[in-house]
Amino acid sequence: MKLLEERIKQDGQVLSDHVLKVDSFLNHQIDPGLMQEIGREFAQRFAADGITKIVTIESSGIAPAIMAGLYLHVPVVFARKRKSLTLSEDLLTASVYSFTKKETNEISISKKYVNEHDRVLIIDDFLANGEAALGLLHIVQQSGAEVAGIGIVIEKSFQDGAAKLKQLGIRVESLAQIAALANGEVTFLNQETE
Ligand code: 5GP
Repeated sequence: MKLLEERIKQDGQVLSDHVLKVDSFLNHQIDPGLMQEIGREFAQRFAADGITKIVTIESSGIAPAIMAGLYLHVPVVFARKRKSLTLSEDLLTASVYSFTKKETNEISISKKYVNEHDRVLIIDDFLANGEAALGLLHIVQQSGAEVAGIGIVIEKSFQDGAAKLKQLGIRVESLAQIAALANGEVTFLNQETE
């Protein structure tokens, strides 16, 4: 997605060979116009897939997921990283090791909101080693719902998350694919082959 790639080039900060900071439009301050275009793009890519629900993870997955939900006319459920007093119903849970925070979180959603009648699109902000996506996949599969695919805003293709998911036969749609973050520069996959 050209608009997103341009924004990453313009505002993304390469913190190391492995980490990209996008706090100015996705992870802290959020650009609603860009989120709207991201939502529209996800909705187009999954328009023919009979999606009934979107599942994401708090907090940075929520903005792109809600915009996709708006265009696909389906509800959005976000997995929580901490147990909440009000989230006491039957829970579906998975353990997720965080790439950026270096800690393991038990993530959960209520059984009430995802069930065997759903066709789910999973959405997240970044795909690195695939821990978050695999955790969400695990939760959705426990519910008996079908997973139609995974939509990712920024895939770091030099890490193995995308390959792991594809090996499981899961469709992955990433709006920006980063081939490398070497020397403080972002190189996209499509740029390499141009
Ligand atoms: P994974 O679980 O695929 O290893 O990592 C994905 C999760 O870690 C995402 O939900 C995202 O929050 C975070 N993450 C991974 N890599 C990056 C990165 O380079 N930059 C930012 N801002 N977040 C990242």
